[in-house]
Amino acid sequence: MRVVIVPCLADNYTYLIHQEGRREAVVVDPADAGPVLAALETHGLELVAILDTHHHWDHVGANEELCQRFGGLPVYGHASDAGRIPMLNQKLAHDDRFEVAGLSFSALHVPGHTSGALAYVTGDAVFTGDTLFVAGCGRLFEGTPAQMYESLNDKLGALPEATRVYSGHEYTQANLRFALSVEPDNQAVRAKADRVAALRARGEPSVPSTVGEEKATNPFLRCESTAIRQKVAGAATPVDVLARLRALKDDFQ
Ligand code: ZN
Ligand code: FE
Repeated sequence: MRVVIVPCLADNYTYLIHQEGRREAVVVDPADAGPVLAALETHGLELVAILDTHHHWDHVGANEELCQRFGGLPVYGHASDAGRIPMLNQKLAHDDRFEVAGLSFSALHVPGHTSGALAYVTGDAVFTGDTLFVAGCGRLFEGTPAQMYESLNDKLGALPEATRVYSGHEYTQANLRFALSVEPDNQAVRAKADRVAALRARGEPSVPSTVGEEKATNPFLRCESTAIRQKVAGAATPVDVLARLRALKDDFQ
């Protein structure tokens, strides 16, 4: 299985996934048709399905154009996003499995950023949209801290540590600055900030991360950390810690 990273818009990542040696590819979160069509051409791939992590325009913006161009594509998303994801015709629920382009996928329902947010797992990779970012998480637009806690820690955090994490935006350097502000002595965060600074200086993406790296560096997966608990003094439960962290991050410059 091979993942082609397609930068779109200002800081979005769209992904093409295909089996080595096969032309059929699926696209995750097509924001903008132009870069997707160019990447298909460059890699000699043929689009056979669209997978959407959630309904926001910067993840579904090219659905209609790609469906028109390729004709009758299956479009996957959470069933509750019918009417919000354009052309949605393959309605998924938590733990649903499907096969497309010779690849096996499972869908995880990960509400928090939006009520219908999904992550897609295939092979040793997970596509997390705006739920889990490298060193961060999405804003709570339609979900509660408890939902986001469960999505990040109990669902995504339960995947094998080597699972590669492909997220929906390049927000990593800002996220790591916040991570250091709440856990200044975390050496894994410092080391990751150095690695990511070098990648970004060369114009390379910070994705993929791994589930193991996220558990070591991402404050939203570290709500039990002593340093973080002290930082948000007064938070009684791990869910309270996540709520306080998310509120701090909303105001962090
Ligand atoms: Zn979003
Ligand atoms: Fe987004």
